[in-house]
Amino acid sequence: MKFKPEVYKIPDVAGQPFIDEAEIWHYINYAAADAESVRAVIQKSLNKQRLSLAETAILVNATDPLLIAEIKAGARELKEKVYGNRIVLFAPLYIGNKCANDCEYCGFRATNKDAVRQTLDDQQIINEIEALEDNGQKRLILVYGEHRDYDADYIAHTVDLAYGVKKGQGEIRRVNINAAPLSDEGFRKVKEAGIGTYQIFQETYHKPTYQKYHHFGKKADYDYRLTSLDRAQDQGLDDVGIGALFGLYDWRFEVLALVRHTNHLEACYNVGPHTISFPRIQSASGLTIDASHLVSDDDFARLIAILRLAVPYTGMILTARETAQIRNEVIHFGVSQIDGGTKLELGSYSMNLNEKQDLNKEQFKINDDRSLNQIIDELLDDNMLPSFCTACYRLGRTGEHFMEFSVPGFIKTKCTPNAILTLAEYTLDYAPEATAQKAWKVIEKNLEPLDPKLKTDLKERIEKLKEGTRDLYY
Ligand code: SAM
Ligand code: SF4
Repeated sequence: MKFKPEVYKIPDVAGQPFIDEAEIWHYINYAAADAESVRAVIQKSLNKQRLSLAETAILVNATDPLLIAEIKAGARELKEKVYGNRIVLFAPLYIGNKCANDCEYCGFRATNKDAVRQTLDDQQIINEIEALEDNGQKRLILVYGEHRDYDADYIAHTVDLAYGVKKGQGEIRRVNINAAPLSDEGFRKVKEAGIGTYQIFQETYHKPTYQKYHHFGKKADYDYRLTSLDRAQDQGLDDVGIGALFGLYDWRFEVLALVRHTNHLEACYNVGPHTISFPRIQSASGLTIDASHLVSDDDFARLIAILRLAVPYTGMILTARETAQIRNEVIHFGVSQIDGGTKLELGSYSMNLNEKQDLNKEQFKINDDRSLNQIIDELLDDNMLPSFCTACYRLGRTGEHFMEFSVPGFIKTKCTPNAILTLAEYTLDYAPEATAQKAWKVIEKNLEPLDPKLKTDLKERIEKLKEGTRDLYY
């Protein structure tokens, strides 16, 4: 599939900056959000077409509560029709909090003298991964500050470690990375280590705001950061994640800029981002942030629904920064991945409850401390299908969200069966009885509408899982 390039004032050239502040504001300032236009844009998205900046601007300008409700209903419909009820689960693992940068919003920033600096040693990493495996996790995202200690060799080494730890039936099948941009050689090295997605968030696409909050260090260079995922693509890392830290600047600008970044990657590499993240600023050690752009819960729900409609085929990640209540609401607007059982304090997955203390080694405070099983339990109650699937990545099927979206039947023949198999594994190996009962019911229900031949095959595979075989996928 070829994407249809759109023409913007700054042309899309690989490796070159592409954000035009005035152009984005022009779209926002001139888009008329009358009911007819808003409905036409929602319809375009429901017809499975990505929105242009001008169309996205119409959605961000809609303020009439009725129209906002229609945008949310549109996102819900898209999610239900296209993606169904699966939610992929993962956990973040913070490896080290040393940092040479000074991002004003982050507890790891170099000038935060209260932060206790630590890098997990190999044994501590192994302990953490064993603890995560004991909970049933299969997918991790490793997170690092930006520091000379965390170069590509080190990152690749930690990825190797993660894939190597096997405890009981536990193993990590996909390791994603959230770290500073690497050199060309560095990107190649981590690709060779077998990573899934490389995430780099621009934080804010608004250059003056970016410069205000990033005081020194490599991250202070806006253009270097903006073009980093182009360099990753140039080195063969075709699975990249973009994101903006909401609360630094006007959310409407950031939403359009995320769409622009998506267009840029499509135009230059014929592949959009694998995922979009939309972290909202949370309280962090010594945090002093101008509060004027903090995003309310209502606007947050709105912006997620708009992003779903604007970029209908991209994975969307919602993290434990948000409360359980907000997550339970916005998950229905098209979120495809959430973290569960999250702990950000370095080394805390393997710590006993009684040795836990607030050591000031976390980047920010999370608001959802439910265990992985609690989250799974609630997803099951909500008729969702929790999934630990890693099949596409391991079978070299890149662009899985795009396939889910555009290949007829892909979800029914691949995603749902793989979600069922990974949930069955979780249920057999880790779920307490009460969760297991719910899980088998949800599995039955999701087997029902499948093609009879596939259903028979799946039932046979579930029997094999019950007999002890693991890691079956389509
Ligand atoms: N050091 C790497 C970098 O800056 O790209 C890794 C990222 S950092 C450890 C992970 C992400 O957390 C950042 O990109 C930022 O969006 C987010 N973050 C930082 N401070 C935050 C805060 N106070 N609240 C919520 N998210 C925050
Ligand atoms: Fe360092 Fe990343 Fe935090 Fe910035 S956001 S201070 S680069 S860890």
